[in-house]
Amino acid sequence: MMTVSHLYNMHYNDDAHRRVIGGFEVAIHCHHYSARLQRTLESSKQVPGKPLFLQAAEYVFARYLPRFFQPEQTIRDKWKVAESLYAHLGYGKLYLDEIEQGIARTTTSHFVEGWQAGFGERIEPMCSFTEGFLQGIIYAITGNTVYVHEEQCKVSGHPFCLFRVDQQRVAPLAHFEKHPVDFTQKISEHAVFSNIDEISIIQSFAEMPIHGNEDGLIPAFGVYLAYTPVDFFNLVSILYMENMRQKNLFGAAKRLLVDTAENCVVNTFGGFMNSQEWQQLVVPQIKDAQDPLFGIIALMKVLGWGNLRVLEFDLGERLVLELLNGYEALGFRSFRGLGSHPQCFMMLGVATGIMELLYSEGTYQEKFGTFIAEETQCIACGAESCIFEVRRL
Ligand SMILES: [Zn+2]
Ligand SMILES: [Zn+2]
Repeated sequence: MMTVSHLYNMHYNDDAHRRVIGGFEVAIHCHHYSARLQRTLESSKQVPGKPLFLQAAEYVFARYLPRFFQPEQTIRDKWKVAESLYAHLGYGKLYLDEIEQGIARTTTSHFVEGWQAGFGERIEPMCSFTEGFLQGIIYAITGNTVYVHEEQCKVSGHPFCLFRVDQQRVAPLAHFEKHPVDFTQKISEHAVFSNIDEISIIQSFAEMPIHGNEDGLIPAFGVYLAYTPVDFFNLVSILYMENMRQKNLFGAAKRLLVDTAENCVVNTFGGFMNSQEWQQLVVPQIKDAQDPLFGIIALMKVLGWGNLRVLEFDLGERLVLELLNGYEALGFRSFRGLGSHPQCFMMLGVATGIMELLYSEGTYQEKFGTFIAEETQCIACGAESCIFEVRRL
């Protein structure tokens, strides 16, 4: 089997705190977030959550996979590239050896792991992301528009997920107009003192070889991580909000997206703080009560969530956080132009969740909902940066 791993060389931009693989910006999220986001969409009665998740994946991977093709590759080579990309990004182990007979299988799955960790078993198959991935890469490799249906899923106890290709598709591939948006990168020193040497933490983590293992999964910090092109998250969020807004449910939809990230952060960074990596790299630098917050912000930068800076901090009570280049706001601008409302729902939930995790007592469930936050300005609406104000309820 050919080696394509050098094609995946990840570039970490330490000015912008963004990660790029194959020329696409990617963000790292964990299996709790992936599955929770899917559940938020699917559980809405007002929005066709599953097709929307699938369309976003189809659009993104039809464009993304060809980034990794090399001259003179055969179709068979390109299926291998797709398997290898899927595993490298941490989605799981995908087998395309029977794809020309219309069958694909996965034996491990980032999304199934996330679902089982958060919500237990379910009866209906859940791998909509992989259905969209397959529709996108089949188009990229063969030029055919197809539907892919998951016939059996690990989530309900099968030994592997089984996908079948349906060639009877007339509808064109999902398409979304996108226009690049420029932004000016400002310096990002925190306006509040901490003992954390952010640069050293970022360097140590950014140099870690984080990519899929032989099972195509990325177990780290007590969770499973995955790299996902930010366009996927942006489209999911934009399409979901637009659908909900048409039903006059903008407020409810915003709450759900914020809750998804908030819940994830309380769980995930809770896990991070119990991990060996945190003990080795961050704990030795913690001298004062504000330091853990700055340790977590350093980690958020490493995940590729953008350039964050603390503007104001009242220990345990209030946090004002600035994000200079959030992928949500820039994504909104590039797909939709200027918006009338702030759009950084993931980061709003994240800002709330870190305060709850660090400064509320009790179990994760008890911490949840003890802080409230608002995005007071957003790049999506033409501001220079996004600002999140979090306070105790
Ligand atoms: Zn499945
Ligand atoms: Zn914003």
